[in-house]
Amino acid sequence: MKGPLRQRVNRRLLGIALAAAAFGSTALGTVSGALVLRTTLQELENHARTLERDLAGNLTSFQPMYEVQRQLQLAAASRELRSALLLDQRGLILAASDNALVGKRVQDLSLSDGLGDLGAHLRACFVESQTGFCAPDRASSLLDGPIPWVGGDHMVRVLPTPLALEGLPAFGQQGLLVIDLDLQPLVGRALQLTGLVFLLGLVPLFLTTGALVLVVRRQLLPELISLAQTDSLSGVLNRGAFLEAADERLELPGLDQPMVVALIDIDHFKTINDTYGHAAGDEVIRRMADFLNGAVRRGDLVGRLGGDEFALLVAAAAPQAHDLLERLRQRVASQRWTLADGSEPQLTLSIGMVEKGSEGRQHLTELLQAADAALYVAKDQGRNQVMDLQRLHPMGWTVQTA
Ligand code: GH3
Ligand code: MG
Repeated sequence: MKGPLRQRVNRRLLGIALAAAAFGSTALGTVSGALVLRTTLQELENHARTLERDLAGNLTSFQPMYEVQRQLQLAAASRELRSALLLDQRGLILAASDNALVGKRVQDLSLSDGLGDLGAHLRACFVESQTGFCAPDRASSLLDGPIPWVGGDHMVRVLPTPLALEGLPAFGQQGLLVIDLDLQPLVGRALQLTGLVFLLGLVPLFLTTGALVLVVRRQLLPELISLAQTDSLSGVLNRGAFLEAADERLELPGLDQPMVVALIDIDHFKTINDTYGHAAGDEVIRRMADFLNGAVRRGDLVGRLGGDEFALLVAAAAPQAHDLLERLRQRVASQRWTLADGSEPQLTLSIGMVEKGSEGRQHLTELLQAADAALYVAKDQGRNQVMDLQRLHPMGWTVQTA
């Protein structure tokens, strides 16, 4: 009876738990990845500044140019440095980590020089008479490259520096120290760490949400489901829950057990309301629901479809179900119904029933229609009776409603 709704809620809960764990873990991974990347970049900038300071110190020590060239080559052998260049103010390469570049002008650099984007950036700066990131009066850096969201796989740093080297005029010569740092390994490591945090975060988050789901399923869900399925006045299944549960029973694959659908309506219930009051009417509905619930077997379904109308799904063939319903009818009619206020209304029931398969009816909607037609006949023929139209007209029947 709680199958489909419970399954739907469980599936939804599991989906929410998975999504929450994945979302939480992604957020955790992203934040930690961003922090790691930022810290890594800062460290790299500090490293670059130290490198620049060391190299710039050598540029004012009257060393010969080949010595500067050797130092640039040594620096470039360190793992993060792609290339290092020393330029004069007109863009002439005085020294470079790659020997082949010495003596060239940055304006003439091409892709075949092996500097990648660096050549294009420097060319742009010098064409625009040393504006942009290679302005002659301030150190600057540029994060560049195609890595999505992160933005760059390398960092170009430019430091204006006075030059005092053997073979150059001693004063007034100004140069640019350019270093190109490779970020790829660092970015790769940051991404790896992000992935690791994501995976590690997934476990505790999934355990937490899983525990939460378990608590909800064990403690809250049964209460909520029973609330959603129970008719608040009578305590039996409400209309929606009865229809869903009965439909599920009737449509169970491979089930050849006989089933009967019955509609039960209290006779002249309006008069009970009018005579004894609405509260008494409510009490009658409650008591009738209890009575029906106690009279059927455990596996049978009892629901209140609305007003003073109840429905039963009885797991029995028509003759047994008819006997059961007839006994119910007789007990209701003969019983003394004493209400809380002392009043004693006379209660009788009209009942319409139909067996699954009668005249080919298999589905709940058809069976309810047939039971309703039988109930209509029971009312029409004087109430206080059980009506099975199939028993009355074994050769087939139709009901003409007014
Ligand atoms: P019949 O024998 O043809 O079934 O007549 P009836 O008076 O039982 O049927 P009718 O459908 O005319 O009246 C049903 C009444 O039930 C009308 C409505 O005011 C009353 N009713 C519906 N829901 C409730 C409820 O929750 N509590 C009470 N006390 N009365 C209700
Ligand atoms: Mg009625």
